[in-house]
Amino acid sequence: MSHRAWIGLGSNLDHPRRQVLSALEDLAGLPLTKLSACSSLYGSRPVGPQDQPDFVNAVAVLDTRLSPLALLDQLQALEQRHRRVRKRHWGPRTLDLDLLLYDDRVLDLPRLVVPHPWLAERAFVVQPMLEIAPELCLPNGQPLNRLSAAAPSNDLKRLSL
Ligand code: ATP
Ligand code: CA
Ligand code: CA
Repeated sequence: MSHRAWIGLGSNLDHPRRQVLSALEDLAGLPLTKLSACSSLYGSRPVGPQDQPDFVNAVAVLDTRLSPLALLDQLQALEQRHRRVRKRHWGPRTLDLDLLLYDDRVLDLPRLVVPHPWLAERAFVVQPMLEIAPELCLPNGQPLNRLSAAAPSNDLKRLSL
């Protein structure tokens, strides 16, 4: 059976746009998975430490037969292929792939929390999700479009291609 997984992509190092675009291709190539939608690219100021470049963000929707943890393994392997080096929390990175939603599942595992804990507080996640699905609700029934006003914008802007 196929599941609907929402992925948040972010990059602020080493040609961020290129990183995000090639990561979208990588997601489309995952086993047992189809890329079913993706948002525009967005630019935003970093969360946390400000002494780092702006981010390029996007959101993708996957139809996948991978389990949540198998999908997380694949996302982390892709981050490694993009030569992500983890130095400090919320620091700069070539590629960050977060699992935002997986159907209406609620998971609280040591390696995986779904919905992603900060989803609702981040305009660079909420806005691209709403671009794809304006009526989307979280597993608790909360409409995402109600949350968008509350999230700080971090100067989010839609980027032209
Ligand atoms: P944030 O979680 O605030 O966006 P981050 O993306 O910088 O921060 P990472 O260093 O990429 O954090 O990830 C830290 C750990 O978070 C990963 O090792 C992973 O196991 C765990 N994790 C928990 N829930 C998720 C999720 N929904 N998507 C991706 N990783 C998750
Ligand atoms: Ca993240
Ligand atoms: Ca992450």
